[in-house]
Amino acid sequence: MQQVNKDKALVVFSGGQDSTTCLFWAKQNFKEVCAITFTYGQKHINEVEAAERIAKIANVDWEVMDVSFIAHLGRNSLTDTTLEMDQHQPEGGVPNTFVPGRNLFFLSVAAVYAREHGINHIVTGVGETDFSGYPDCRDAFIKSLNVTLNLAMDEQFVVHTPLMWLDKCQTWALADSLGVLDLVRAETLTCYNGISGDGCGHCPACRLRREGLQQYLSTK
Ligand code: ZN
Repeated sequence: MQQVNKDKALVVFSGGQDSTTCLFWAKQNFKEVCAITFTYGQKHINEVEAAERIAKIANVDWEVMDVSFIAHLGRNSLTDTTLEMDQHQPEGGVPNTFVPGRNLFFLSVAAVYAREHGINHIVTGVGETDFSGYPDCRDAFIKSLNVTLNLAMDEQFVVHTPLMWLDKCQTWALADSLGVLDLVRAETLTCYNGISGDGCGHCPACRLRREGLQQYLSTK
């Protein structure tokens, strides 16, 4: 068995605001950080380009993993161009931007990857506060999966979720405290229409991001 390196963390990294903030959080909290980006048939391949660019700036090892089977399992508006994107959370359900199983698959693959690299710390940017009703962003799910992953591989993984209880305003504050507010603002891609930085301005992700930023900047 490989020796577990407690100084090393693997970040599940999309190149968006949240996971980029987590990447720099990890850099502050662990001696060594690497990042993994998943392709799952997203409409916008520039997400992956953003991730690559930021990983370079952050000077971390970075790898892309293809899990595009996820897009074929269920319909969602992030991978299916024929589906019009829900702008709001429908009553009693999740918006069609929900990719069923996404975080389950991402974290499971990340854990196998981490194990192979002797890493037991895994960092993900999911959070409950702005989670649009996505069940796989909830704390209970992450804690449950952490136990399952440990049992599945007889390992002692620790899944870190630094943004779990932060809203977007507080996530901007965290980025600022890590010294990367401008970087996160300029380089990350959160927009559902695939536009970096401040984005298209009107999709749900852009609205959430902008409102959080305005709120944070007004408190400075
Ligand atoms: Zn947008």
